[in-house]
Amino acid sequence: MSREELQKEQVEIPEILPLLPVRDIVVFSYMILPLFVGREGSLQAINEAMASNRLIFLATQKRASDEDPSADDIYRVGTVAMIMKTLRLPDGRVKILVQGLTKGVIREFIRVGAGYRVRVEKVVEPEVKEISIEVEALMRNVKENSEKILNLKGMASPDVMAILDAVHEPGRLADLVASNMKLRIEEAQMVLEIFDPVERLRKVNELLHRELEVSTMQAKIQSQAKEEMSKTQRDYFLREQLRAIKHELGETDERAEEINELREKIAKAKMPPEVEKEALKQLNRLEMMHPDAAEASIVRTYLDWMVELPWSYSTKDRLNIAKVKKVLDEDHYNLEKVKERILEYLGVRKIKRHMKGPILCFVGPPGVGKTSLGRSIARALGRKFTRISLGGVRDEAEIRGHRRTYIGALPGRIIQGIKQAGSNNPVFMLDEIDKVGTDFRGDPSAALLEVLDPEQNHAFSDHYLNVPFDLSKVMFITTANLIDPILPALKDRMEIIEIPGYSNEEKLRIAQQFLIPRQLKENGITEKDLVISEEAILQIISHYTRESGVRNLEREIAAICRKVARKKAEGYRGLTRVTRANLHKFLGVPKYLPEQEQEENEVGVATGLAWTPHGGEVLYVEATVMKGKGNLTITGHLGDVMKESAHAALSYARSRAARWGIDENFYAEKDVHVHVPAGAIPKDGPSAGVTMTTAIVSALTGIPVRKDVAMTGEITLRGRVLPVGGLKEKALAALRAKIHTVIIPERNKKDLEEIPKHIRKKLKFVYAKHMDEILEIALVEGAKAKRETPVEEAVGKRRHGARVVTPAAPPA
Ligand code: ADP
Repeated sequence: MSREELQKEQVEIPEILPLLPVRDIVVFSYMILPLFVGREGSLQAINEAMASNRLIFLATQKRASDEDPSADDIYRVGTVAMIMKTLRLPDGRVKILVQGLTKGVIREFIRVGAGYRVRVEKVVEPEVKEISIEVEALMRNVKENSEKILNLKGMASPDVMAILDAVHEPGRLADLVASNMKLRIEEAQMVLEIFDPVERLRKVNELLHRELEVSTMQAKIQSQAKEEMSKTQRDYFLREQLRAIKHELGETDERAEEINELREKIAKAKMPPEVEKEALKQLNRLEMMHPDAAEASIVRTYLDWMVELPWSYSTKDRLNIAKVKKVLDEDHYNLEKVKERILEYLGVRKIKRHMKGPILCFVGPPGVGKTSLGRSIARALGRKFTRISLGGVRDEAEIRGHRRTYIGALPGRIIQGIKQAGSNNPVFMLDEIDKVGTDFRGDPSAALLEVLDPEQNHAFSDHYLNVPFDLSKVMFITTANLIDPILPALKDRMEIIEIPGYSNEEKLRIAQQFLIPRQLKENGITEKDLVISEEAILQIISHYTRESGVRNLEREIAAICRKVARKKAEGYRGLTRVTRANLHKFLGVPKYLPEQEQEENEVGVATGLAWTPHGGEVLYVEATVMKGKGNLTITGHLGDVMKESAHAALSYARSRAARWGIDENFYAEKDVHVHVPAGAIPKDGPSAGVTMTTAIVSALTGIPVRKDVAMTGEITLRGRVLPVGGLKEKALAALRAKIHTVIIPERNKKDLEEIPKHIRKKLKFVYAKHMDEILEIALVEGAKAKRETPVEEAVGKRRHGARVVTPAAPPA
């Protein structure tokens, strides 16, 4: 019998009905639902109902846990229902299917055995005669919200929607929605107790609203959580699955092996704790990544660097000063002063273990043995040796590395050097520290300062590593060609040891004692295969090389050795003698003609001395006078400073014209041309001032300049001679050119001490304060007699053709 039938037939509902207290649910009219019944009182009620008209009163317990609720524990408003089906379950319980018919209020409880009968008053709800617009809107709202909620919960289906759509009574809609909303008991009961249908629907709508908000929020939270979990987690799970599959298939898991291998290496690298922590962190990241991801290869490279650095590996020092001296002597000819200072330095280091002293800096032209001294120090101490060149470094990142976010980033040169050394206490040579530049990419010198500063370098930070590396045990040695360009802040940290160039005799000894034996050995031959005569060596020095050091000399000797080794390999067993006469057969035609000394004293040609990064040079300055209008022409690729020197020289000559018997008005009718060969090579610096003056005065007076006098010095307009640099190198250059008298500024006298004694002995130094003194010496005797010689005549006497040597950039 359906409800409609019941209604039609106006089912007679008796006043007294058996009561079935229900838990956890509030039953509305129209609802059909199954109930499980087990309590004795309840079973008794069902039996009673089944025995009569199947009608029963369903009322909700206030507390679900009450096994035997009293009248007060049961809500008064409930629903009259009809039992449609019963089914006895094996455990003694009964399952019933009930349908709600109409609402009722309990007016009286009557205790019967274990249960109750209740006197019920039927509730007659007010009728909604007309659906107002407001009610219509309310109904639509309720339907829409219900649909939304169902959608959010993924429970929407066309059937449900159709049912909702079919309901046109507000009260019924309220009941239908409320019964499906999983309301809390109190709330559901509250809805049930509202008898006015429209009011009830309003309440339901309100509850729906709240539910919608909660559901929306819930859905949002869920999707967020899902998103987060999705990418990494999904990859991870997939990879785990793949691993499991591979494992099942008996395939080795390369990736796991790689990770394990790295983990072992990290443990072996004995990193400081915080470094190891970082390494392990990166390893974990790597493990989570897709092995082919670009990021993974970056992390892998990083870890490779980390595990290969000698974090805790040091070599053991042998600080035996006598032994060091022996090694230095074994490897290097002479250089006594340099060796002494190295030994002093190491001696102090021995006494004060953690000396925070200066860094050694070897300064000298190329090929004088700076690097090889560094190597010897390392060998003597039993340390590893490593070197990097700082030439042209302009970017801080070259010292300190790039951050890993850069593509192709690597650690800086310092860390690279350490890795190459393989120990954390090598002798570390920083070459060409005078060629460090600065520009917009940052100042590498700041990073270098940190490297060289014992207060800071125990935690040197490389951008790539991103963890500190301890450089405090490293013995840094720097090298430079020139002192002046070294940045002052760096210079302050260093103890400068100058290594001047070698004279020809010294080169000869070095060749005989070191270079030739070494090259013989390297090429697998002996002195039974090859002898190079002393004369031949000197010929190589003067005709095949032009340098302060011995690098090219060694190269040429190596070339000879290779030729002989080849002959030997081809079966020749005899001794090869290299002499001055047959040298060209081994080395080809001479690369340099020797500095041709002037054969005669000449007018208008003065011999200057210059200083270049390659050592000292002899420089012939030419001046000539011709008819003209007082112009000064300067040629020979001269820098501004040198040009200004030439102007100063001419002005001086004019101001002293009377003294040297020069026509005071020469300037009105003559042009002067000053040339410094070789014209293609740039030269600059003020130290050729005195030489230019001498050449000009000679040209104007017609008095020749002494060929055996070389000079250097800056000149002022009043003829004062100012000091210059590079004396040692200049002295050596003079000696090479077989010039034995050297005029130097008086104020350079103190610098003579730096020149080795044996060189000093071979030269005559003349000190000049004033240009007049230089001219007295440089112009040939009998100059006085010639003072009256007319200028034209003197000019006619001068002749061209002096051979010119390599030019120079004489500094200060
Ligand atoms: P630098 O570093 O100053 O440019 P190197 O140390 O490379 O020069 O020296 C070049 C070569 O000359 C090396 O083979 C070195 O052994 C050799 N040499 C330089 N000076 C001496 C010396 N005084 N005694 C022996 N060999 C030397």
